[in-house]
Amino acid sequence: MINFSVLEVKGRITSKWCDLKMIAELIMVGTELLLGEIVDTNSNYLAEELAAIGVDLFYVTKVGDNQQRIARLIQNAFTRADIVITSGGLGPTSDDLTKEAAAEALGRDLVLCPKALKSIEARFQRMHAAMSQNNKRQAYLPEGSQALHNPKGTAPGVLVETQDGKALIMLPGVPVELKAIMRDSVIPYIANKAAGANGIIFSQILRFYGLGESRLEELIKDLLVTQSNPTIAPYAGSGEVRVRITAKADTQETAESLIAPVEKELLGRIGEYFYGYGEAGMETVVGNLLINKGQTIAVAESCTGGLISNLLTNVPGSSDYYMQGAVTYSNLAKETVLGVDPRLIEDYGAVSEQTAKAMALGVRQWAGTDIGLGITGIAGPGGGTSAKPVGLVYFSLSSSEKEIVDKRVFSGDRLQIKERAALAALDLVRRHLLSLGN
Ligand code: ATP
Ligand code: MG
Repeated sequence: MINFSVLEVKGRITSKWCDLKMIAELIMVGTELLLGEIVDTNSNYLAEELAAIGVDLFYVTKVGDNQQRIARLIQNAFTRADIVITSGGLGPTSDDLTKEAAAEALGRDLVLCPKALKSIEARFQRMHAAMSQNNKRQAYLPEGSQALHNPKGTAPGVLVETQDGKALIMLPGVPVELKAIMRDSVIPYIANKAAGANGIIFSQILRFYGLGESRLEELIKDLLVTQSNPTIAPYAGSGEVRVRITAKADTQETAESLIAPVEKELLGRIGEYFYGYGEAGMETVVGNLLINKGQTIAVAESCTGGLISNLLTNVPGSSDYYMQGAVTYSNLAKETVLGVDPRLIEDYGAVSEQTAKAMALGVRQWAGTDIGLGITGIAGPGGGTSAKPVGLVYFSLSSSEKEIVDKRVFSGDRLQIKERAALAALDLVRRHLLSLGN
């Protein structure tokens, strides 16, 4: 029985660990993946989770909804990995064939799993929906399997152990379901399996904004080369970089004491870009700061089209500090909604320092908030000039104490420019809040 728990403390993941490195392999199932119709985000997620618990990953493959090809891949994977994880193809329809392929690969029959059937029936009852024969199919698992509870959907995950102590884990393709089963069942299982010797793995994630991945590597190259315990792994995110410091030790305290000096060294070198720990993104960090400083905010957006308001309101509890937002795309909207002087726009242009400032002040006064944020820029691909190129964005923050204005030129396509501008705007708010006294 698994007598093991995975602890999460402020973005740190703790799990058991042993000297023997386990090797995992991922198989992403779905013809849509091969046609380029959906982007495979599941393997990225799984890869990061496995890295965090010290499991090596050498191969990730994609395969269509074809039983024979999936079966062959599973067999192949077992020649070089201890744990094979599949994603997708567990649904009720005829193109969902992963379990059939697994049964074929392992030379086992599909048999009805009463526990899986019960949980599928219970889910349909809760939803007051009729259950079809096809849904019953989802309760047939390769002989000797264990159903892994799916708190977010119908198809349970499946765990099959082979005679030589290896494991096949099948997860649904829907990302929220895959993540939930991974977190609740798979990570504890793998960590427990690895716990031949006593010990833990303990990770700390540091998040940085305003520093590219290559610049980061340059600045910490010597640390990356000499690392052993703890290890340091940089990850590029969208517009930010994360560094995961992972220590192996007998106890959490020892692991923490191994991590602390490395963290200090990193922050000594690149601390000016550091914005937070763990899973909390920029919008969460800004939200927490707004609460801590007792400040409220309103946002006037042009080129970001509401993205900043969207990010801020993705955080539960944002109604405590986010009061209102306006997408003032046209000049007329900037004038009528925010009270921007038409002469300003005429003299300096809609994309200008002056307009951004007037937007920030206008939205702050309109909403009666402590902070007003104004963003105006050129997201492209058209509309750029040599004086005002595509990617040029002006940011302004207005508060009763001060007015800040900033100018950036972002590269990328239209959506990337919008995303980068939104993140930069949030970082401007973060820096402003940090500069305030308590
Ligand atoms: P369902 O019960 O919905 O059929 P399933 O386990 O059979 O689930 P798939 O049919 O393969 O899974 O995929 C369901 C949906 O999950 C896809 O339409 C897609 O939106 C998403 N999905 C599948 N595989 C991936 C992947 N590798 N990365 C991200 N999303 C994925
Ligand atoms: Mg399906």
